[in-house]
Amino acid sequence: MRSYTLIAPAKINLYLEIIGDRPDGYHELVMIMQSIDLADKIEIKSISSETIQVHCNHPQVPTDKSNLVYRAAELMAKKFPEAFAKYGGVDITLQKYIPVAAGLAGGSTNAAAVLVGIDLLWNLGLTQSELEELGATLGSDIPFCIAGGTVIATGRGEQLAPLPSLDHIYIVLAKYRSLEVSTAWAYKTYRQEYGSGYLKDTNDLAARAAAVHSSAMVKAILDKDTAAISQQLHNDLERVVLPAYPQVLQLRELFAAQTDVIGTMMSGSGPSVFAICASQAQAEQVKLQIREAIPDEDLELFVTRTIAQGIRVA
Ligand code: ATP
Repeated sequence: MRSYTLIAPAKINLYLEIIGDRPDGYHELVMIMQSIDLADKIEIKSISSETIQVHCNHPQVPTDKSNLVYRAAELMAKKFPEAFAKYGGVDITLQKYIPVAAGLAGGSTNAAAVLVGIDLLWNLGLTQSELEELGATLGSDIPFCIAGGTVIATGRGEQLAPLPSLDHIYIVLAKYRSLEVSTAWAYKTYRQEYGSGYLKDTNDLAARAAAVHSSAMVKAILDKDTAAISQQLHNDLERVVLPAYPQVLQLRELFAAQTDVIGTMMSGSGPSVFAICASQAQAEQVKLQIREAIPDEDLELFVTRTIAQGIRVA
């Protein structure tokens, strides 16, 4: 039986701006996404029966059709029925290391890995943009997760413009295990509170999205200037999540108060919060300081770093 083991990295948002509504009900976004080396491991193998089987070591992650990896495999079976018939079904085993419902694109990166894995398993020879197009039909963050790295994402997050990669920026990541923020709630609340300021005109939306290319954040990334990147971190969703979730606000303030932290921000719709440090040693030190300040075992802390790649074969 053929099998592949894939590494599926999480992402953080260095920048997230909500600029308007879309006719399809999503928001028009301007984001800068960044892969990090905190990753799930996914084993995918062909099986003789024409079925899709999912196994996972994490109690919060479903193994039925609601798992994004199931839907990714189902999509491939539908798109490539001859290959499905020729190679048989797929058995997928997920080993989760990325915190669930954290704003780190855990489910999306798993689905991206399954698209890449099945492409290999069935010898389909799909291009990166074909894989991204398939991914976009399942979820907005999936196209980014395929190649990963450092990328400007616009539209609903599926239109990608790669930036030079940022290797080795050290990150401390914090997430309360039992705390989940619904992405749908965060965007809906943002619309209710700030929707009156959205750009309406299509030309204005296009101009705003294009302006990111000459923004201070993109300049900082092109200069590989970690201090300037840290100063330009931005996430509009903090405006609704921080007031509603005091634990996230507390983490954010605690990170900001550490001497060795040069920038801190919530990732995506939260509740994970990350902090940028100048070295791995400083990141380890900050992790210890946060652990001392919040001895609660429910708080998970990681030291991780930015990486230049998305899905890869182990
Ligand atoms: P995003 O940053 O894209 O909004 P997230 O990191 O906030 O995603 P996920 O970890 O993808 O959120 O999980 C969101 C929900 O999706 C969870 O409550 C979980 O039950 C469900 N889910 C479905 N498939 C997966 C998967 N493969 N891994 C994790 N969660 C999954």
